[in-house]
Amino acid sequence: MLNINHTVRAYTGKRGCMCGCLGQYKDSERVRKLAITQLLKDPDVVFDTWAEEGCLSVTTATRTRVLYLTSEGVDIVRKMGIRENQVYG
Ligand SMILES: [Zn+2]
Repeated sequence: MLNINHTVRAYTGKRGCMCGCLGQYKDSERVRKLAITQLLKDPDVVFDTWAEEGCLSVTTATRTRVLYLTSEGVDIVRKMGIRENQVYG
């Protein structure tokens, strides 16, 4: 089961640029726990991986929410059967 030890940080913001100008990156345990709950229950969740890391994300018409995973977190999400998009570069 995915828990906060398998996560690095979470991002929420308006859809678009993710440099921080439209939202915030947070790494508190509370925020990461909330992100796990919200993303895993969302049928539209997207699972991207690169190198040994990855993230779960949901983008609506206006908002983006992302949860960055450790390599162990990536392995756990793979076993949950969520379709994986391997991102290069
Ligand atoms: Zn920006």
